Amino acid sequence: MTDAPTQDTIVAFLGDIFARCGDAEYLGEPVTMAQHMLQGAAIAEQQGLEDEIIVAALLHDIGHFTSEFGTFSMQDTEDRHHEEAGAEVLEAFFPTLVTDCVRHHVAAKRYLCATRPAYFDRLSEASVHSLNLQGGPMAPDEIATFEANPNLERIIQVRYLDDAGKDPDRVTPDFAHFAPMVQRVVDAHLAARATS
Ligand code: FE
Repeated sequence: MTDAPTQDTIVAFLGDIFARCGDAEYLGEPVTMAQHMLQGAAIAEQQGLEDEIIVAALLHDIGHFTSEFGTFSMQDTEDRHHEEAGAEVLEAFFPTLVTDCVRHHVAAKRYLCATRPAYFDRLSEASVHSLNLQGGPMAPDEIATFEANPNLERIIQVRYLDDAGKDPDRVTPDFAHFAPMVQRVVDAHLAARATS
């Protein structure tokens, strides 16, 4: 698909990324990229979380495939800013709650490492490697700025879903299962935007 996605094609556009790129290795973890994102979404759905959070978990790493910088590897010595790339792609179709959770999921890791010492101890090896490239734990002034985001709690929620989606034995529904929900979130957002 080369044309820029529209309201009618964005879900197919995203599904296509899952289909074409989902088998890529996820950051040195024992799951593929698609498994990783589907697991986060499936856990969110099981927990009865709201659609926007399920969708944010499903799409949080999509920027690994939309970025001109390519995908992360353990050999990287520079960060590729996939969180920003992902949020930019989603911004035209999804509410700020979703794009904030995507845009700040890396910052949330840096925030939790700075404010909850037990969090750092639970990070996977790959996640510690990328943390260092991403700037390490937040400094106090960054913490204050981050805490001012009205979506702070949801951003952290999606971060925990991100961290939970690394189980090689967990079986999840596929992208098609979530597609109608993704479309509903897009349609509701664009309808609300049109009338505001
Ligand atoms: Fe992730």
